[in-house]
Amino acid sequence: MGGYVYFFAQNRAEGSAEKKNLLGGKGANLAEMANLGVRIPPGFTISTEACLYYTAKHKYPDNLEEQIKENLKKVEQATGRKFGSRQRPLLVSVRSGARISMPGMMDTVLNLGLNDASAEGLIQEANNLRFTYDAYRRLIQMFGNVVLGIPAEKFEKLIEKKKEVRCVQDDIELTGEDLKELTDEFKELTEKEKGIEFPQDSFEQLRMAIDAVFASWNNKRAISYRKINKIPEHWGTAVNVQTMVFGNMGDDSGTGVGFTRDPATGEKELYGEYLINAQGEDVVAGIRTPLPLSTLKKKMPAINAELVDITEKLERHYRDVQDFEFTIEKGTLFMLQTRSGKRTAQAAIKIACDMVKEGLIDKKEALMRIEPGQLDQLLHRRIDPQAKLEVLASGLPASPGAATGGVVFTADRAVELVEKGEKVILVRKETSPEDIHGMAVAEGILTARGGRTSHAAVVARGMGKCCVAGCEAIKVNEKEKEFRVNGFTFKEGDFISLDGNTGRVIKGKVSTLEPELSAEFTELMKWANEIKTLGVRANADTPGDARLARELGAEGVGLCRTEHMFFGEKRLPYVQQMILAENKEDRKKALEKLEPMQKDDFKGILKEMEGLPVIIRLLDPPLHEFLPNYEDLLVEVSKLRMEKTDEKRVREKESLLEKIVALREVNPMLGHRGCRLGITFPEVYDMQARAVFEAVAELIAEKISVKPEIMIPLVVNEKELAILRKEVIRIAEEVMEEKKVKFEYKVGTMIELPRAALCAGKIAQQADFFSYGTNDLTQTTFGFSRDDAEGKFIPIYLEDKILTDNPFEILDQEGVGELIEIGTQRGRKANKDLEVGICGEHGGEPSSVKFCHRIGLDYVSCSPYRIPIARLAAAQAKLEEDMLKEEVRAK
Ligand code: PEP
Ligand code: MG
Repeated sequence: MGGYVYFFAQNRAEGSAEKKNLLGGKGANLAEMANLGVRIPPGFTISTEACLYYTAKHKYPDNLEEQIKENLKKVEQATGRKFGSRQRPLLVSVRSGARISMPGMMDTVLNLGLNDASAEGLIQEANNLRFTYDAYRRLIQMFGNVVLGIPAEKFEKLIEKKKEVRCVQDDIELTGEDLKELTDEFKELTEKEKGIEFPQDSFEQLRMAIDAVFASWNNKRAISYRKINKIPEHWGTAVNVQTMVFGNMGDDSGTGVGFTRDPATGEKELYGEYLINAQGEDVVAGIRTPLPLSTLKKKMPAINAELVDITEKLERHYRDVQDFEFTIEKGTLFMLQTRSGKRTAQAAIKIACDMVKEGLIDKKEALMRIEPGQLDQLLHRRIDPQAKLEVLASGLPASPGAATGGVVFTADRAVELVEKGEKVILVRKETSPEDIHGMAVAEGILTARGGRTSHAAVVARGMGKCCVAGCEAIKVNEKEKEFRVNGFTFKEGDFISLDGNTGRVIKGKVSTLEPELSAEFTELMKWANEIKTLGVRANADTPGDARLARELGAEGVGLCRTEHMFFGEKRLPYVQQMILAENKEDRKKALEKLEPMQKDDFKGILKEMEGLPVIIRLLDPPLHEFLPNYEDLLVEVSKLRMEKTDEKRVREKESLLEKIVALREVNPMLGHRGCRLGITFPEVYDMQARAVFEAVAELIAEKISVKPEIMIPLVVNEKELAILRKEVIRIAEEVMEEKKVKFEYKVGTMIELPRAALCAGKIAQQADFFSYGTNDLTQTTFGFSRDDAEGKFIPIYLEDKILTDNPFEILDQEGVGELIEIGTQRGRKANKDLEVGICGEHGGEPSSVKFCHRIGLDYVSCSPYRIPIARLAAAQAKLEEDMLKEEVRAK
């Protein structure tokens, strides 16, 4: 009949699954089931359009009331019952149903159609006083609360009182007479609270319930759920009015829920639970323990056979796992709901692969079915979902995984304790490169400051270590070796746990589950590679990282951050000597000591990546990061001066302090770093380039094929790059001459500043490749300090919708993305062979990876553990592009 109302009954439905936007998920799937011949309780769906009309104008659209009445008649015909009548009364439920499920957020009213007269009829028909008055009091209770707004506790109080008087514990022990009395008491309560009688006119009940469900689209809960889940306000909810069926009519009745496959493991077996002689809410309420669905075969063999048949049919029809609800009323099975079932990452992969084997879907569809971000669950340890947790605070989920350990406040102490066999969690206000050795041995890292691209976050992700960053609720006192949170004080050795997937900081030890990669995972990743065209490389700083990255499918190294090689007790003294050197000669001497160590690092990485490109970035961070902390040293010098015991030491420390003062910058992220170091201290880059090329020469002698690419960070114009490129080439030629070998190499740059993106045409003439450092490019485009923004104001910006996403997590396609596009176009126009990729943290974030595919980049580079995510997202991006092309062609 069209209009605003759509009828459904077995084999007779006006809607279908395709009309989800109009009928909501629930209504559309009820119609689809009906059309498949599945037995469902007859009813009708009032469309989302009617809801939107009602929300805007506070009245029904023309004819809606007539359409509801007409459809109610059809339901009466289909069931042989009459709404509000004493004889064979029809009872209905009224439920919301948005386009996507918003569990428990909007309102429901059950048992509408009961009044004093129909209750009498029902008593006779069901021959059950208790059943009838239980249904009637539930109606008044729900109607009173949902429609009239009477607080639920007031009804609960009356029930409690009744149980007290009757000296019983559970509702179930109240008799029919008790419930009859309660029904009257509820009616009185309604009158007292609202000054109106509970409506005896059933159509009046129905109309008021529909209004309430429409209005519940804008209740507080629904609004915040929409906000969190990014559900647009203009979708509205549909309303389903459906015949009630009862699972509590005796031992030939029951109710249950299930999945067509196990949603935790993906195993192909009916999974779920049910209760005999019970209503849906009894399953949820937990008063009685439901039975596993596997036992239904024994208890009700015919019903079980029918259920298996229907659910198999539904799964084949939808070609996906179904999450279903059913009720058995006096030996007749009714399906109440079916929808695509939520599943864990492990199950999602198994199900997708199994369905390909079963011929239900093809490989492409299997790839599209997996949410790339979900793969994180598989690659990292996670907190046992059964564990009881005492959450102390929440920070940013900066690196996934789970960790338990004793807290420790310095990197050195972490190393000491781990050497003794202890498990530790490194807790710092924030981390810097000098903490790297402590991070490497810790189970997890917790910082009070810094965001998702802070040092701690970036390094932890690279190491595949769990990290909660920017947890401002914890007050860290590194000197006193303690931190405070929520009234608790944690001293060194006290146990905490971290959940890097959610950002939770938990008191004490918790049990964790180890990651495991299945054969299906490997298979799915293989399919992703068959489809994707975007390259996926790794950000890897050590041979170990490189090996892991290759195992996870990296097609090269997109970023090797060399500064991490400058730490450790063997190297740091030479690095500091180099920084403190008064002249070129002294600086060179220190660098000569570092060079062989750097060469070995590069050899290791290049060897692991044999045959694949390796981009090595020359030194980027400001030099003060390699020196002691200014404040700490100031305190030490003051102490030494007061003690007056060791004059020589005082002088040494004072001169170090002077140097630190000279290097200190107000805003080091925009200061003396990147290629600016290379220009002002050319010996440093010379040493690094020489170390790379000597490593290359030695590997070639070992007949290992290598593809080195040298990357200059943070250029702002072509002149910087021209100078440094010339230097690198000079060194390459020197090494080739000295070692009597020939090798290929590339010299390129990072694009991390808006100016560099805009002037890419000129810069590209000096570069073989561009790699967008989107961490810095986001920071410099927004003018948001990457170490401060996430902890301070970004959460508020997100809350107030000033930003839709955190730009350090999800690439800002509109601004930063536009710069990448402009830079790429201008760069490629000037140099058609220019190779272009990104290596910021966005390189492992699915929507950003897809953007990189769409604008035609050559590759993305991300930390090793995010490589499978990037591979899957890249495959999906290609499939989406193909689908779009297909659509355009079809038009
Ligand atoms: C970047 O800025 O995106 C980048 C990869 O470099 P880093 O994070 O080391 O500054
Ligand atoms: Mg950078």
